[in-house]
Amino acid sequence: MSFKAPGFKATVLTLFPEMFPGPLGQSLAGRALEQGIWSLEARDIRASACDRHRTVDDHPAGGGAGMVLKPDVLAAAIDAAPHDGPRLLMSPRGEPLTQALVRELSAGPGCLIVCGRFEGVDERVIEKRNLREVSIGDYVLSGGEPAAIVLLDAVVRLLPGVMGKQASGEEESFEGGLLEHPHYTKPNVWEGVEIPGILLSGDHKAIARWKQEQRNALTQARRPDLWRALRGPNESGKI
Ligand code: SAH
Repeated sequence: MSFKAPGFKATVLTLFPEMFPGPLGQSLAGRALEQGIWSLEARDIRASACDRHRTVDDHPAGGGAGMVLKPDVLAAAIDAAPHDGPRLLMSPRGEPLTQALVRELSAGPGCLIVCGRFEGVDERVIEKRNLREVSIGDYVLSGGEPAAIVLLDAVVRLLPGVMGKQASGEEESFEGGLLEHPHYTKPNVWEGVEIPGILLSGDHKAIARWKQEQRNALTQARRPDLWRALRGPNESGKI
């Protein structure tokens, strides 16, 4: 019998557990799930509602549109869920999900992810249960489930043994603060456009230099914010 590491443990709290594993059951993440490299438990928040109607939400204090997830129900769901690692709340006002945060999470034992619905969750449960709010972008989803799937997809592909070649994680967009260089594959000429000659030259040093130049140029053109962050506030931004 071979020793098996416990793997990354994801626990998701949701009103729609049937949304999981969803896309995470396919391809790289799905295979890794089958292999036990990570585990996923989606738990129904509603199971922690104890009144006759299994109420999970109520009207916002002070008025306003929509409904708010009740703190007592959500806290009970959190307390009942065995989990490892940080407790996250998917939230449009959270810290942006970055590759750095993804790496940090993938190096840990797992995480608990709370998926909001309606207008959101009662503020007190965020404080009392120490929830770290994470946003996947500046737009509003109808629920945290797709955001949790995005986060877990990004984390799982970094777990050891998930990607075929470990190196393929290292040259990618955002690793090193840059966008990735363009890719090409056969045929060498397609619709009249050739693969850049340098990539077919066999000169590995020149190829590496070309890739670096492409990464710099793309980042500067498309994401001046990333470029500035990399160069520091006093640099001109010129390559
Ligand atoms: N009233 C809230 C939006 C609620 S959307 C506001 O204006 O900030 C309902 C739920 O979807 C949220 O509780 C959150 O869990 C999830 N959600 C929506 N947009 C998201 C985003 N950009 N990133 C992460 N989660 C998001």
